[in-house]
Amino acid sequence: MLTSIFLPEPTQWQLERVEVGDQSLVIKLLTTSTQAVCPYCATSSERAHSYYWRQPADLPCFGYRVKLNLQVRRFFCDNDQCTYTTFAERIPKVIAPHARRTARLIDQQQAIAFTAGGETGARLMAQLGMPGSPDNLLRIIRDTPEPVVTTPRVLGVDDWAIRKGQSYGTILVDLEKQQPVDLLPERSAEAFAAWLKAHPGVEIISRDRASDYIKGATDGAPEATQVADRWHLLKNLREAIERYLDRDQPCLKAAADKEPVARPEPTTPELQLPEPSQPDEPEPDEEPAQSGQLTKAQQDKLARRTKRLARYEAVLELQQYGLTNNEIARRLNMDPHTVARYLKTEHCPLYPEGRTRPSKLDPYRDYISQRWQAGCHNATEIWRELGHLGFTGSRGLVAQWAARQRQQLRSSQSEPPPPKVAPWAPSRAAWLFVKPPTDLAPEDQAALARMIQTSDKAALVYHLGQQFVAMIHDRQPEALVPWLTAVFESGVGALTRLAKGIQQDFQAVEAALSLPWSNGQTEGQVNRLKLIKRQMYGRAKFDLLRKRVLQSVA
Ligand SMILES: [Zn+2]
Repeated sequence: MLTSIFLPEPTQWQLERVEVGDQSLVIKLLTTSTQAVCPYCATSSERAHSYYWRQPADLPCFGYRVKLNLQVRRFFCDNDQCTYTTFAERIPKVIAPHARRTARLIDQQQAIAFTAGGETGARLMAQLGMPGSPDNLLRIIRDTPEPVVTTPRVLGVDDWAIRKGQSYGTILVDLEKQQPVDLLPERSAEAFAAWLKAHPGVEIISRDRASDYIKGATDGAPEATQVADRWHLLKNLREAIERYLDRDQPCLKAAADKEPVARPEPTTPELQLPEPSQPDEPEPDEEPAQSGQLTKAQQDKLARRTKRLARYEAVLELQQYGLTNNEIARRLNMDPHTVARYLKTEHCPLYPEGRTRPSKLDPYRDYISQRWQAGCHNATEIWRELGHLGFTGSRGLVAQWAARQRQQLRSSQSEPPPPKVAPWAPSRAAWLFVKPPTDLAPEDQAALARMIQTSDKAALVYHLGQQFVAMIHDRQPEALVPWLTAVFESGVGALTRLAKGIQQDFQAVEAALSLPWSNGQTEGQVNRLKLIKRQMYGRAKFDLLRKRVLQSVA
């Protein structure tokens, strides 16, 4: 009964014993068959010669690593014609000759190898209680036979980066079966043409508008219909509009005009202290959950601010008792200027602690405040003047003071100065030209309307762009020639260049407007390839990458 769980061929095996070790199980199994077939001459034999033990690793079980202890017999071959006198019985459903893992363990490791790759797969296997290293998994990938691929009728072709910006490969996809059929280590007309010649029968080739694939398809499969990819056509249009907008700055400035100005977000709101008028609110550092989320530096800062808040409140309290500023300063051991400033502000000031320590600047504060009010905001200038009055401190001390004044000035201004409006980037603006107007957010619709109003030319570019998009979306091959004519008459350089390119590739573009095929599926396969490549930490050997991309289980 148990044997049926442990082995794929329960009738041939008898469970002898299960030894439970520290972290492993050893399952001892004996064969029950009385005969075996010689693998060299296919003659059946019942004459046992001897037996030996094999100990392959097997599937883990209940968190234990599992080893089988298999009794395997040798038989005499009684066929006189056979070159062998004895042979070991074959148990292909359990284990291959000379293998150290059972067939079903290799099956699972194959799935792990193709799904997770060598490094990640080996870490996963360690967790699962399976033996094996990254190299084992890579060998499994290399040893797995390639899936048999029939030549597709409809082929998608695209490039992918082997090393971005340096070298590119080619991916070929069966667009009907939606699966990759091959990976080429280069992006060249020759390589693509050679593949097509070796795989005759492709009827339709969907490709982008790169000249390599046009030439490769024309040379390798001259009979096949070429289809320009619609997504790439739309991309070409957007790039053409981008080039136009790059030279139409008034249009880009109009897009940015009257945009609602975003108010800057208050910084580090979790450090804002409760206002003195709300004494019932707990202080932030009394909430362990909150202070637990702060870094050490933030906690220190918070502690200093809490201390300052306590002193601020003490100043207010003493003032209630009618004490003068100097008396308050003396009682709290504070700088009288600080007391004065605390009493002037409505909230506890939140600038650095160092401000309240005695400073060489203290005797000159009235003077420098006057100078500041009078409009002299140059720290060096003030420092020189102080020197004449006997100040011996550094220029840096004055500069720090000036910086704090500026900071205070900024924070006291209720409205931040409106940021200078920068023109839109051409790429951002171009998107509005090619999207359906109904898909645009209201503010984008408004920006688009402002851009179109800047000139007749901008309006014309928008009009031609939308015509092109509609032609592709609604598959209107009959609209292609009138559109090209309109572009040539418009005199818009960027669009004229696009139209010339389309004219040179006219049949494929017309096919794109008539046939249902596009490279969306190919792009999806390129994304899958990128994912696999990332799993291989970018240092994928081409043969391994190709195996994994072509393997359908992954
Ligand atoms: Zn034989």
